[in-house]
Amino acid sequence: MNIKRRSVMVAGVPYSIQLVPHGTYDTIADDTNEGMCDYTVKEIVAHDPTMEAREGDDMKNLEFITNNTVKHELVHAFLFETGNSEYAEDEKLVELIALSIEKLHKLCADANVINSIYELPDQPMAA
Ligand SMILES: [Zn+2]
Repeated sequence: MNIKRRSVMVAGVPYSIQLVPHGTYDTIADDTNEGMCDYTVKEIVAHDPTMEAREGDDMKNLEFITNNTVKHELVHAFLFETGNSEYAEDEKLVELIALSIEKLHKLCADANVINSIYELPDQPMAA
């Protein structure tokens, strides 16, 4: 089986990222779920549509889709590993953050505060 693997540190915790063809894992087998984050084994799995074409696939920039899926799953992992497991389960919040990452990064760069250290609080973030 063709699986692309890489690893990343999520708030100091090593996670593996696996890009797999559709149908590899039952938990992400349906068409509405492109990825998953398993906190118990520190693993993110995402479908990589470049590995196989499915009937009906008409997107040209497939890497863009995979990257967005991995980004979304990384936000789940980040919130969980920073003690915010309640937020990590909030799909709307996770997607909002995933969609906003580049915009927030650009905003901080434009404000020239990109290298400032902003420490996470010891306690989970308040609602
Ligand atoms: Zn999600």
